[in-house]
Amino acid sequence: MITNRDEAWYALALKVAADSLCSDRHGCVIVRAGSVLSLATNRAVVSHPVSNRYLKQALHAEQRAILRAHDCEGATLYSARLHVNAISTPCAMCQTLIEEAGISRIVFHDGRKLVKIAS
Ligand SMILES: [Zn+2]
Repeated sequence: MITNRDEAWYALALKVAADSLCSDRHGCVIVRAGSVLSLATNRAVVSHPVSNRYLKQALHAEQRAILRAHDCEGATLYSARLHVNAISTPCAMCQTLIEEAGISRIVFHDGRKLVKIAS
C-alpha cells in the first residue's frame, strides 16, 4: 500500500530529479524510519576515472544513492523520473543492487500511479 508519506518522499525524489544535468532526469531518495539516508540524481560520466579514456555512460540515481548511504538495510528506496513518461521502474542492474543492499521496499511510478514492491 502506498501511504501519504510514500507520496511525500516520492515528491522529494521528483525534486531531486529536477537537479539532474542529464537529458533524462532521474532522482532517488532512500529513507529509513522517517529519515533520509541519502539522495542522488543520475549523472553522466564522460571519462574513465583512472585511464581518463572517453566514456559515454551514466551512473544511475539508485546506484549513487546506495553508494552514499553505506547502510541501507531495511530502508525504502524512492525512484523518480522527471519526464512526460513518468515510468521510473529501477532497471534490472539497479534492482539487483537494491536487493544486495538490503533495501526492503521500492516505490516508483508505473506511468499511471505509484507502486510499491518488496525487493
Ligand atoms: Zn538503473
